[in-house]
Amino acid sequence: MQNFKIIILGPGGVGKSALTQRFISGNFIEAYDPTIEDCYLKTVKYKNKEYKLEILDTAGTDQFTSLRDVYINSGDAFVVVYSIDSISSFNDIQSIIDQICTIKESDPSPLIIVGNKCDLDEDREISEEMGEMLANSSRCSFIETSAKLDLNIKEIFYDLLSQLINK
Ligand code: GDP
Ligand code: MG
Repeated sequence: MQNFKIIILGPGGVGKSALTQRFISGNFIEAYDPTIEDCYLKTVKYKNKEYKLEILDTAGTDQFTSLRDVYINSGDAFVVVYSIDSISSFNDIQSIIDQICTIKESDPSPLIIVGNKCDLDEDREISEEMGEMLANSSRCSFIETSAKLDLNIKEIFYDLLSQLINK
């Protein structure tokens, strides 16, 4: 079985743990310890084949950008998360994307930008078009999700699998 390591990156509070937990356990965890960083294993079926995904939910990467280098080096594919109700989180992900592109010299490495908390439409600060434009200029995928409502969570990982397999 093919094995891929997926790294979840993004500023604090955007829902990295909530979406990881939603994908792994199927539940929405309202308050997840922000300091917990853990790796999860899940076998998924995609196009009639099984793949083993190792998913690293990172924490505290704002302060430790050098640690981020280590994660990026070890990853096969990346999920970079912002929250649609926070322009500062959207601004913060640009440097993470740049860091991935620098470390993984290979042309766009399997990467998806995720605009999470799309259930908070009344507090929206980032339009869907802004997310799409950033993804176009970074030559990667883009999806809006809600870990709370379980919207588009599996699709994040299916998109990365399709990028990994067609690489
Ligand atoms: P992390 O620091 O990126 O791991 O963020 P967490 O997963 O700990 O989530 C931070 C906060 O955002 C928590 O209060 C979550 O309940 C909340 N949250 C996460 N995902 C969603 C979502 O899709 N919708 C809403 N409304 N809140 C969310
Ligand atoms: Mg977390």
